[in-house]
Amino acid sequence: MNRFAKPLLASAALCAATLLPARAEIDVARLKTAIEVLVEGDYPKLDALYKDIHAHPEIAFQEEKTAAKLAAEMRALGFDVTEKVGKTGLVAIYKNGDGPTIMVRTELDALPMEEKTGLAYASHDKTSWNGRETFVAHSCGHDIHMASWVGTAKTLVGLKDQWQGTLMFIAQPAEETVSGAKAMLADGLFTRFKKPDFAFALHDGAFAYGTINYRVGIGSSNSDSLFVRFRGRGGHGAAPQATIDPVMIAARFIVDVQSVISREKDPTEFGVVSIGAIHGGTAENIIPDEVLVAGTIRTFKPEVRAKMLTGIERTAKAVAAMSDAPAPDIKITEGAKAVMNDPGVVATAEKVLKEAFGDKLRPSPPGTPSEDFSEFINAGVPSMFFNIGVYEPERVAAARDGSGPQLPPNHSPLFAPVPKPTIETGVVAMTLAVLSTFDQHARGK
Ligand SMILES: [Zn+2]
Ligand SMILES: [Zn+2]
Repeated sequence: MNRFAKPLLASAALCAATLLPARAEIDVARLKTAIEVLVEGDYPKLDALYKDIHAHPEIAFQEEKTAAKLAAEMRALGFDVTEKVGKTGLVAIYKNGDGPTIMVRTELDALPMEEKTGLAYASHDKTSWNGRETFVAHSCGHDIHMASWVGTAKTLVGLKDQWQGTLMFIAQPAEETVSGAKAMLADGLFTRFKKPDFAFALHDGAFAYGTINYRVGIGSSNSDSLFVRFRGRGGHGAAPQATIDPVMIAARFIVDVQSVISREKDPTEFGVVSIGAIHGGTAENIIPDEVLVAGTIRTFKPEVRAKMLTGIERTAKAVAAMSDAPAPDIKITEGAKAVMNDPGVVATAEKVLKEAFGDKLRPSPPGTPSEDFSEFINAGVPSMFFNIGVYEPERVAAARDGSGPQLPPNHSPLFAPVPKPTIETGVVAMTLAVLSTFDQHARGK
């Protein structure tokens, strides 16, 4: 029997006008306490799961052991689990009467980098990636998301007399390469399984634990990758007049492309282009034949994106033309689209989360990283994506006022969330967000 069998929702009240019973609002304070008691009791297991996943990370589309660990947890809870959806993804379904289907997503993948936190449970694992050996680390905190995801599933099952509907918990591969969501959809996520009515996901970040950041509308950026191959005519460094120098052309491009940001884009709109790689040449006295420049383009709005892509392409062609070089090969590959938070889903969750977290629930500007959770939203699922903090509030305050060091952000080799308060906040917030939507539906609003 459920240990919280006593109803946590306030009892039904009579609607004066029609004398039909109307369901009352969620009793948030009581529900929050119940969730906290459940999480607290279960935390040692979640902690062990978190530290195991953290110590043994796997990168995009290699997450077989990670997925198996989550599959075992979900089966033990009574979920119907399908593995290998989108190569290494998981779909876990839990039916509990009539009601909407709510999807909760976690990512599975880690990053090809070395962890330098020195934590007792730090990763020392290596793998093969793109033909070379690399360290692997959960430096984006997807391990926190997985522990919170399992914790939320446990809590919702523990409170199953408080909601009706279907839980669709998915664990997505390859978020870091923004390809896992597409892979799951292509493998029938919304056709072999029911397309959910609503979806939620969270991401951790370098701010105070116990705090939740959220936003209506744009939640993350559009991401495009840029590859430009400038072709010249190689020759001797001492006789540049007989060459067309692609190093010079690339250098000019790297500088001039920033004028697309500063002179063409509306300064009040977000847009960034960063060149992250230059490949060309072998020796100091040889002018090479070609140089490859690679970068990332980030925007929020489609019209800003279109304007930037046009400007970047024109700049690349122009710098080549200036040197009488052949037109460059320009490849722009579309990555993730911006996450758009649904105003209705956010409003429902916001009301409950505000009551539970008070001023620790904070509206925030959109984040500039990208996120392929947008694939599910663009497939027509109204959703909410929110962020949870990972560091001690005192250290965050000290970093902010300059009295303490800056704290390592996601993707830093030193990124080191404080597990317990972070995971507990993830579970409480996600459980309440899901319950708020079930409740809203049950009340027919
Ligand atoms: Zn990341
Ligand atoms: Zn991430």
